[in-house]
Amino acid sequence: MARILIVEDEAKIARFVELELTHEGYEVDKAEDGRTGVEMALGNAYDLILLDVLLPQLNGMEVLRRVRRESDVPVIMLTARDAVMDKVAGLDAGADDYITKPFAIEELLARIRVALKRREATDMHEEHAQPEPDHHVLTIDRVSLDVERHEVKVDQDPIELTNREFEVLKALMENRNVVMTRDKLVQLACGYDFVGETNIIDVYIRHLRSKIDDAYNFKFITTVRGVGYVIRKD
Ligand code: CA
Repeated sequence: MARILIVEDEAKIARFVELELTHEGYEVDKAEDGRTGVEMALGNAYDLILLDVLLPQLNGMEVLRRVRRESDVPVIMLTARDAVMDKVAGLDAGADDYITKPFAIEELLARIRVALKRREATDMHEEHAQPEPDHHVLTIDRVSLDVERHEVKVDQDPIELTNREFEVLKALMENRNVVMTRDKLVQLACGYDFVGETNIIDVYIRHLRSKIDDAYNFKFITTVRGVGYVIRKD
């Protein structure tokens, strides 16, 4: 599941695009101004960025320049009609593509698929000399978790998880029948420098249970009182 960042100050457009992309199975974040856009773009591993040109704080061109100093993530610019200069400047500054507002959503989806596919092809080409990594799928009971694709399925139904929910579930599935403490799960899911309360794990577990155990009516994650959590399955 690809992650997409929308940098767009017009809330209605951003919301509409977010709904459509989410419906297509993409994971979507939004930024409403250029400065936040740069921060989010460089602080997260996005597969693609949709970038409006006219933005408060920093305009889209400046966002693009700052992102390009550090990242070659595909960027599709959203430009005003007939703003030929913007298109040229955007492509010169390293945009992969642009689309003119107002756009048909099908057109945008098609452009996104092309940009992602092109990136995939580049990545494969770059990794050509290296051996293919094993496609790493963990399957326990009715749940399967694809590490590379970042996908979880129950009975072949795809389940939408946040990154941290995914990491918690992955840690539990990789350590089947091993009781994982909250401390350990926090380290694995949130990083070793995480400073918050470890009971945040309880929240992720609750979300996972509502999406897996409750939604599919079976017992997957077991609580070990006073210790942590485990997936007990043979
Ligand atoms: Ca705008």
